Amino acid sequence: MKPPRIKAAVIGSGAGGAHAAYALAQAWGDGVALLEAGKHLTAKDFTQLESEMIPKLYAGAGTQASEDGSIGVLQGKAVGGSTVINDALCFRPPPEIRDRWAAYGVDVDLSGLSLLADEVEALLNVQRIPKEMINRANYLVGLGAAKLGWSGERLHHNAAGCLQCGFRHLGCAYDAKRSTNVSIVPRFEQLGGQLLAEHAVHHLERRGGAWVLHTDTPTGRVELEAEHVVVCAGVVQTPTLLLRSGIDAGRNVQLHVQTVAWGDFAEPVEQHAGIPMSYGVLEHSDVYGHTGPGFLIEGVGVQPLSFSVQPQAEGPLHEEILGRYRHLAGALSLVRSTSRGSITLKNDRPSIDYPLVEHDAERLADFYERAFELFMAAGAERVLLAHRETRWTTSAPGRLPIGAGKQYLYTAHPFGGATRGDVCDGVGRVKGQDGLWVLDGSAIPEALGVNPQVTIAALALEGARRLSAEAGG
Ligand SMILES: Cc1cc2nc3c(=O)[nH]c(=O)nc-3n(C[C@H](O)[C@H](O)[C@H](O)COP(=O)(O)OP(=O)(O)OC[C@H]3O[C@@H](n4cnc5c(N)ncnc54)[C@H](O)[C@@H]3O)c2cc1C
Repeated sequence: MKPPRIKAAVIGSGAGGAHAAYALAQAWGDGVALLEAGKHLTAKDFTQLESEMIPKLYAGAGTQASEDGSIGVLQGKAVGGSTVINDALCFRPPPEIRDRWAAYGVDVDLSGLSLLADEVEALLNVQRIPKEMINRANYLVGLGAAKLGWSGERLHHNAAGCLQCGFRHLGCAYDAKRSTNVSIVPRFEQLGGQLLAEHAVHHLERRGGAWVLHTDTPTGRVELEAEHVVVCAGVVQTPTLLLRSGIDAGRNVQLHVQTVAWGDFAEPVEQHAGIPMSYGVLEHSDVYGHTGPGFLIEGVGVQPLSFSVQPQAEGPLHEEILGRYRHLAGALSLVRSTSRGSITLKNDRPSIDYPLVEHDAERLADFYERAFELFMAAGAERVLLAHRETRWTTSAPGRLPIGAGKQYLYTAHPFGGATRGDVCDGVGRVKGQDGLWVLDGSAIPEALGVNPQVTIAALALEGARRLSAEAGG
């Protein structure tokens, strides 16, 4: 039997896919389907138990990593994608991308993008986090920055009416966080769009002037046919899907390289309580006019199970660290890495390769030094670094060696793999493939320098509207 043909299919319902689907449904209503590999979970499913929610909500049950195991790659896998588990921080697209992306032949219209960011902020109810919602851990990060005279600020979030329960990384049990599953997907459905959860598109095939989506569902593999396809399966799965479809992709992967340091304070900090991330130090960044070496420091608190792996300790040292959990205030690095990694296919599955380059190692060593200064200035008794050579320290760590296995590294912000200027043209059309677009984080040509969900969403709205206009929306 011939598969049903629809006007457009969007693959993936995270920051990129939900916004693209919403914009397409504004033009084509029920002619648009949004296919999502993960389940459609709702507030009542979010039990706030790490052991239950991490396997349900995180790609690879939370174990997804680079092939050599040296960098954890955190991504979401439910309706709403990574926005379900993210920290809800919202940064506007940095104006520096106009010059930076020009190097890849990508022409960014900053004023148009700014209007789209306004629209995203309105859709997601973005606001600055009120002073009274800054928890003790983030307050201490702000205090250290203020004592050192560093530029920093309370950040913005898309979580109006937040109850400050502390479980943002496990899905919001109160629907306060405006992740796309509760903010954009319902709008898409109100416009007539069809959400197909537990539909994992394995590969695409061009047949008879349309795209056939070979899709795995709980009842087996099905075929769907669409005139236009927008791939938004996230940085690991978008290149994987393109590669399985015989389309050259997977180059130019870039990460925000992240590690952690903690100040150990005499009084309890209770990092698990309140909004996990609310204060950012921009002093060392190279965005919004700052001319630092290229990393952000953000305050962070995590729940105990996630925390337990971060210091990478064993035995009595691990026990001692866990014993101080309630007294630790954390800060993470967000290094705008310059390495170029890749996604390749290995036995039909993605393999992530990300070699750190000298620049990244230098910035990570910078971060450990600055984090030490920050927490000591805030009154910490000692500082804990997620580095195997120096854990607790009361003296400046100096230039720590950086490399695979030497420190805890992860990313919550991968970019690239199907970038504009390479696999895609400057607005997201896949080169040489009629009716095929990429409008998620994998189209972003380099590490952004700030938390990316607003930029990804704004670019997705722009691309989808361009697509519907061109195709007679
Ligand atoms: C723990 C964490 C905290 C973060 N905090 C912040 C923050 O505070 N602020 C911020 O700006 N950013 C944050 N981010 C990053 C941000 O959420 C992501 O950059 C953004 O959501 C990426 O959007 P995307 O559309 O590229 O992919 P995703 O949001 O990851 O969505 C991709 C979707 O595609 C689905 N999919 C994959 N393969 C297929 C397939 N074959 N078929 C169908 N569907 C498929 C996935 O299940 C997933 O739902 C955080 C991320 C994490 C993991």
